Amino acid sequence: SGMRENLSYEQFGAAVRDLAQTIADDGYQPDVVLSIARGGVFVAGGLAYALDCKNIHLVNVEFYTGVGTTLEMPVMLAPVPNAIDFTDKKVLIADDVADTGKTLKLVRDFCLDAVAEVRSAVIYEKPQSLVKCEYVWKRTDEWINFPWSVLPPVHRSGAAPKENKEAL
Ligand code: 5GP
Repeated sequence: SGMRENLSYEQFGAAVRDLAQTIADDGYQPDVVLSIARGGVFVAGGLAYALDCKNIHLVNVEFYTGVGTTLEMPVMLAPVPNAIDFTDKKVLIADDVADTGKTLKLVRDFCLDAVAEVRSAVIYEKPQSLVKCEYVWKRTDEWINFPWSVLPPVHRSGAAPKENKEAL
């Protein structure tokens, strides 16, 4: 549709507390929060504090190359976490959004063999997601602008192109 869902850092702060409250009210007390880098790191950090869980792990998954453009399948990048760390643990997978759900499915399947229980928490879930997350803050079918990725990377201030320096 071309419409965007814009999330600010302030809204994110409230969203992650809401999401944690839903998880706590559901009686789920994870032993480990497993974040999917990079967007899921923000969510995992907020949830781990709010749920008083000190054990955070991270998995790197590469899928999106731009707005709506993807690799064929998501891939887990090295270093892959050691499944032994999750043996008999209650794991909460945290990500920013389940879009196709392929990323979450990859990580979920990676966990399923070893863990006692695995559940997933996301800020957003889109209708087409093939993984239905246990915990979702908001559903949308729009492209989401997250506060951490909406702006381009910063560059060293002195390294601006010559034309720009002269304009200052
Ligand atoms: P999936 O595998 O569910 O299609 O995609 C998951 C990952 O793709 C997310 O963790 C996120 O990094 C990226 N992604 C998917 N949809 C969106 C979106 O609407 N906005 C942004 N900024 N990233 C997205």
